[in-house]
Amino acid sequence: MRMLTRSDANFAAELDELLNVSAEDTSAVEHTVADIIADVRRRGDAAVLEYTSRFDRLDFRDAARLRITPEQLAHHAAQTAPAVREALEAAAARIRSYHERQAAPSWQYSEPDGTVLGQQITPLDSVGIYVPGGKASYPSSVLMNAIPAKVAGVKRIVMTVPTPDGVINDVVITAALVAGVDEIYTVGGAQAVAALAYGTDTIRPVDKITGPGNIFVATAKKQVFGKVGIDMIAGPSEICVVADAATNPDWLAMDLFSQAEHDEDAQSILISDSQALLDAVTASIERLLPEMERADIIRKSLAARGGMILCTDIDEAIEVVNMIAPEHLELCVDQPERLLTSIRHAGAIFMGRYTPEALGDYCAGPNHVLPTSGTARFSSPLGVYDFQKRSSIINFSAEGAATQGRVASVLARAEGLTAHARSAEYRVEGDAGGQTGQ
Ligand code: NAD
Repeated sequence: MRMLTRSDANFAAELDELLNVSAEDTSAVEHTVADIIADVRRRGDAAVLEYTSRFDRLDFRDAARLRITPEQLAHHAAQTAPAVREALEAAAARIRSYHERQAAPSWQYSEPDGTVLGQQITPLDSVGIYVPGGKASYPSSVLMNAIPAKVAGVKRIVMTVPTPDGVINDVVITAALVAGVDEIYTVGGAQAVAALAYGTDTIRPVDKITGPGNIFVATAKKQVFGKVGIDMIAGPSEICVVADAATNPDWLAMDLFSQAEHDEDAQSILISDSQALLDAVTASIERLLPEMERADIIRKSLAARGGMILCTDIDEAIEVVNMIAPEHLELCVDQPERLLTSIRHAGAIFMGRYTPEALGDYCAGPNHVLPTSGTARFSSPLGVYDFQKRSSIINFSAEGAATQGRVASVLARAEGLTAHARSAEYRVEGDAGGQTGQ
């Protein structure tokens, strides 16, 4: 792991280098994805079937077979170990309970002249949830995407998940059942995103697509944005841990591993005011790493993107946190509440030594879909609000229209828009003042 010291003159440049992911040339992927989307738009189900055969080696002649039937759903749920099903239900209950508190109500207020203004909140009609399934399976992603949509009141929640070689993951399907997903299709990649955005005979289009995926999925989401809404384009996952000398170094090493084991591009950063603690964590990493099932990935991730930052005190550590704007922030210190109001940028804040990020990934309740790559400076975790829309409500009384009509008329004439001005002036004059058309 790279070692940085906050007081070094070139700290800002070194931090920049640590945070930046080397930008790959993605133009070949962009072309491939654009071709797939165009083909799905042109040929619909036939194109979806062809790409599903080519990339996932799943061969169906009839696209209707891509949809999981109620019988299959029941079968896969029955195959899931009871302990896993119970854990999914326990996690779902907590995620539901947390997100129910996010549901924003409609609101209105009245002015003295009887004019009413407000905002009406409505759920999206339909959403598509992409669940990755190429190399690993992510039942927790199913819960984190589908439950907020359900809480928002979305009527139609459609899930797509690739099933390489036709192998359906029992736990992913059970998670969909627990979360209340309405339709499931065994399609992945750009062809799934294209089908969700533009629709085929088998997969009706949706209004918004959420969920993580590889470079083909992320690029497809970018390309269909505008036809449908999307949640975000997630970069590699990151954790930033602020720890004082009193924290158990083994716990910290494991928290860093828990991020690094996702993939080689994942980033784990430890910040402390104690050189002794950083040394102890380095020793814990050496000792614990060989025991890890994904030791190779962890080692590569820590070597390429891991970092330890020494600060003079914890307040200085928080300044560094704000420069990083991490996806996940752990505060392994006494009285983490004392630091909370100083943190301006972080996707999720895990407070105290008994709150590892791993709990947040599965069952704490808050969403695990979080802004990555410094985007916590301007964006927020996935939530119920991502599945709701707002319509403005404007209801003028005759008196209110007369007052505001004068203001609008002046501004419209200043813009040279006569029809706007006359439209407002008619209401100032009222029926008695002009033609009524009768
Ligand atoms: P995936 O479902 O994203 O991708 C599989 C699909 O990629 C295949 O169905 C195929 O259609 C397409 N594909 C593969 N090779 C292709 C090619 N050469 N040309 C065109 N299309 C091709 O599954 P994955 O590959 O396992 O990737 C999952 C990703 O999701 C990982 O990068 C993982 O880190 C990420 N992820 C992120 C989070 C998060 O919360 N940020 C959570 C879970 C997973």
